[in-house]
Amino acid sequence: MKTSEVVKAWGKILKGEQPSLSIELTKECPLRCPGCYAYDDAHLGGSGVTLRSLADRKGQDLIDAVLETVDRLKPLHLSLVGGDPLVRYREVEAMVPLLLARGTHVQIVTSAFRTMPLEWAKMDHLNVVVSIDGLQPDHDIRRAPATYDRILKNIAGQKITIHSTITGQMMKRPGYLREFLEFWTPRAEIHKVWFSIFTPQVGDQMPEILTPAERKQAVKDMLELRRMFPKLDMAEGLIRQFETPPHNPSECVFSLTTQTLSADFKTKVTPCQYGGKPDCSQCGCIASMGLAAVAAHKLGGVIPVGAIFKASIKIGQAWPKPAEPPQPLDQLRVLQ
Ligand code: SF4
Ligand code: SF4
Repeated sequence: MKTSEVVKAWGKILKGEQPSLSIELTKECPLRCPGCYAYDDAHLGGSGVTLRSLADRKGQDLIDAVLETVDRLKPLHLSLVGGDPLVRYREVEAMVPLLLARGTHVQIVTSAFRTMPLEWAKMDHLNVVVSIDGLQPDHDIRRAPATYDRILKNIAGQKITIHSTITGQMMKRPGYLREFLEFWTPRAEIHKVWFSIFTPQVGDQMPEILTPAERKQAVKDMLELRRMFPKLDMAEGLIRQFETPPHNPSECVFSLTTQTLSADFKTKVTPCQYGGKPDCSQCGCIASMGLAAVAAHKLGGVIPVGAIFKASIKIGQAWPKPAEPPQPLDQLRVLQ
């Protein structure tokens, strides 16, 4: 994060606003990945409300909803997630230039199950993030139909950030992360690589969860690999944050500064994009660690940025909030 971005974010926090917004653009996804948190029954807080049960939007209605939300909340950073946002590729293609023109950084997180417009590769402030679950034999089982072969075909000519979530299964094979980087980083389309660590819900018992020793090894591996593979875009300070994740959402700068809306544009995903009851003590979210690293930075070598952010959040929360704008269109639609 650049200093100018920190200052802009700080200004929004002081006004009681969240600088980042994430939108679950659609409830649809052609994949059925094991461990997918978006379709978990508890993702939207339980009580029978799930991503699949929401009324999502399509066509111009979806474009209008995104633009209205961005105009109202004015996020500095917007992440379009899903489901898979490219299920609505026509709408995404139309909205991207309109969002960039508003000065918002846009990130699209996809499985790359389909092709993308070639112009995206040339657009500043647009980041296309492709999720890849490890080496080909593992990935292809977990993420068909978005297999390695299909991803390679669909990202030709693009400028892509790869995001891979490290699991317990991967860490049981020494050298796994290195092999992964050896496969992907030589390719021209690959601009950056990011790793997260699998984040369970409280009480989960799953093979994806890393043991404490595996987590330690993952940190050690990433610290070594970042020196060998410059495309591994993870600063040392960020990687070290995986050793001491936030204790709870109120300690997590990412959760405090990011709002996530689900596919009906009303339901909020809390306390962070994982929803449900994520086990912060085992958090492996790269965004959370990145902001924790910014927060740990000491201004003038004395005051941690995080202390200023948290004090500013309290000031921002003390300001009276404008009432939520009425949304008469929904009621009218019911009458039509
Ligand atoms: S691509 Fe994403 S949203 Fe779709 S099933 Fe996989 S993890 Fe879930
Ligand atoms: S991003 Fe991680 S630390 Fe932050 S609230 Fe979610 S699970 Fe907890």
